[in-house]
Amino acid sequence: MSSINITTYKGSKDGSIVKSSTTKPDLTDDLVLLRITCSGVCGTDAHYLDEDMVLGHEGVGIVERTGPTVKALKKGDRVGFGYQHASCGRCDLCLSGRETYCAQRAMYGYADKDQGSMASHAVWSEKFLFPVPEGMSDADAAPLMCGGATVFNIFEAYDVRPSSRVGIIGIGGLGHLAIQFAAKQGNDVVVFSGTDSKRDEAMKLGAKEFYATKDVKRLKLDNGGKIDHLIVTTSALPGT
Ligand SMILES: [Zn+2]
Ligand SMILES: [Zn+2]
Repeated sequence: MSSINITTYKGSKDGSIVKSSTTKPDLTDDLVLLRITCSGVCGTDAHYLDEDMVLGHEGVGIVERTGPTVKALKKGDRVGFGYQHASCGRCDLCLSGRETYCAQRAMYGYADKDQGSMASHAVWSEKFLFPVPEGMSDADAAPLMCGGATVFNIFEAYDVRPSSRVGIIGIGGLGHLAIQFAAKQGNDVVVFSGTDSKRDEAMKLGAKEFYATKDVKRLKLDNGGKIDHLIVTTSALPGT
């Protein structure tokens, strides 16, 4: 087997996206070669537009080849990958499902900068590839790999259970996914957004109540204002 040539799209000093390439050695251990079919665009990608690194960390692709110790994946499988590429797999954090905090983690932005989802192919460890269910399109699956995982994790980490009243501030990439997760889990979803411009969209996605917050000094909420969990998806709190 020969080395693997990959076409990539990188950031650059002036912020323009440039076509480039990288070469990986033939597959060892649990490495998997994917042909990328779809990439999401995450807000974090904008932070790295002027960096000399491959962009994109919301990828979906088809397995083309597998390394010698790959167990669960095979050629033709459809998988996604996200922000994290590796962790030690042995520390307390890894063993308790908190591998995003592993001291030896490898992540977008500082590790494996020659690879990303804005590319023709990628080579990643099987451990950080996630099968995409049948019936879900590549385009729908890709944004779940970072934006989706980020907000979904909140429901697990903070034990949000059905029938809670979940408040969500902001309806950007994260917020519109958080509304859907919260509503489909069986919660009452209360959305806070700057203006009314996203009211219809929020209600369609599953919100039960919607409040525009711009220039409002004091909000009067239904249900006595009780919110069990508040998910803040904005970089600044309303009014700040
Ligand atoms: Zn992201
Ligand atoms: Zn670890």
